[in-house]
Amino acid sequence: MDKIDIIGGGLAGCEAAHYLSKRGFNVNLFEMRPNRYSGAHTTDLLGELVCSNSLKSEQLDSAAGLLKAELRLMDSFFMRIAELSRVRAGSALAVDRLIFAKLATEEITRDPNITLIRKVVEEVGENFTIAATGPLSDETLLHKLFKDETLHFVDAISPVIAADSINFDLAFFADRYAKAEADYLNLPLNKSEFELFYDALIHADRATPHPFEDEAVFERCMPIESLAARGRETLLYGPMKPVGFKDYFPETLYAVVQLRAENQERTAYNIVGFQTRLKQQDQREVLRLIPALTQAEILRYGSIHRNSYINAPDILNHQRLNDKVFIAGQLAGVEGYLESMAAGISAAMEAEAVIKKLPVVNFPHLTAFGALQRHLAGEFADKYQPGSFHFGMLPHEKIKGRAERKKFYYSRAVEAMKKFIGA
Ligand SMILES: Cc1cc2nc3c(=O)[nH]c(=O)nc-3n(C[C@H](O)[C@H](O)[C@H](O)COP(=O)(O)OP(=O)(O)OC[C@H]3O[C@@H](n4cnc5c(N)ncnc54)[C@H](O)[C@@H]3O)c2cc1C
Repeated sequence: MDKIDIIGGGLAGCEAAHYLSKRGFNVNLFEMRPNRYSGAHTTDLLGELVCSNSLKSEQLDSAAGLLKAELRLMDSFFMRIAELSRVRAGSALAVDRLIFAKLATEEITRDPNITLIRKVVEEVGENFTIAATGPLSDETLLHKLFKDETLHFVDAISPVIAADSINFDLAFFADRYAKAEADYLNLPLNKSEFELFYDALIHADRATPHPFEDEAVFERCMPIESLAARGRETLLYGPMKPVGFKDYFPETLYAVVQLRAENQERTAYNIVGFQTRLKQQDQREVLRLIPALTQAEILRYGSIHRNSYINAPDILNHQRLNDKVFIAGQLAGVEGYLESMAAGISAAMEAEAVIKKLPVVNFPHLTAFGALQRHLAGEFADKYQPGSFHFGMLPHEKIKGRAERKKFYYSRAVEAMKKFIGA
């Protein structure tokens, strides 16, 4: 059986390795850490989640819920690992990122069909190769593979706070709209506290500009200070919206900051939607204006990164760059943890089809996998940009009520995927 090289032991690379190993292929999995680190990875573990520890909603009327359901049907490696490393997060699937990455590393290392090689790969070799080097790919390999054809966007990471530095007397546990268990820690602000926070935020210093600062910032990862600069009210309709908590502080509640547990012991909390590129000292000073955080110890500061991706519709055929090289994960232009996992599995399936001289896989158009495949073909936008899965990518059906329509899309997609895999 042909040996397959996979470059990058992140979400897409490990999914691809796991898929191919199960089918009896021998895989060399190359990971550059600890020899070289991206600006966002901090460990040498495989499958490190670089920002949020959430794999988003589990609900049947959510796009992330559907994508997870399809990943499970496809026997996703990381969906199984996520169950084992789960932390409480209401209706979302969130994980203890350290346990998640440790379990992934242990399983991959134990797999007799996978050889893990710690090396910065600068060019592809003779074997069939899946490049899954992610948005923070080492540049030398990118230049060799794509010349000057890579594109970029900018996004940012949220800070993480030590639990024992939070004033829990000024916080409350609740799920917005009480849809699920009260797992989120909410930090309320009244109007004058919000005004103070807001003024400090928009006047705070940003980190020394990188050469890439004038590039496009990805809308969903917009730094909090950039959102705030759009207007005094913007945060109140975004990450600080005070809605869904009518039983708590009804008189004075003006804004809310939400925190999600970072680990199973709940010794650290991630601030939801607070990605930032402020200077570290300014981050500390601004966050400490939130009443429950006046003594906050910041375990990980927010930061900003340039992400690379390729113009997949122009240079790939499905996920194939040429007869030997396939592109997986976010480098191909999907966006998000779940999407990267899916685009790891689909790249592996395509490599398998090419090696075995089988027809190339087309996922059913009613599924999230099918929608992502069509996104990579450039079907949804004139200007290609990294894309996450959403229900608008599925064929429309006239059904009254948004929630009902989404549930219908969910069931229709799951059925189509089951049929596709013969389940
Ligand atoms: C700063 C930042 C924050 C993000 N936050 C979120 C978030 O909160 N939620 C979300 O859903 N998505 C987020 N994303 C988007 C994205 O889903 C993740 O980056 C995801 O990890 C991408 O998966 P991947 O497998 O394509 O790449 P990665 O998981 O980054 O894996 C790529 C791997 O390849 C290795 N590598 C790179 N170059 C080489 C080389 N030449 N040789 C050998 N190894 C190499 C890297 O070390 C890494 O381990 C974020 C992205 C970034 C950059």
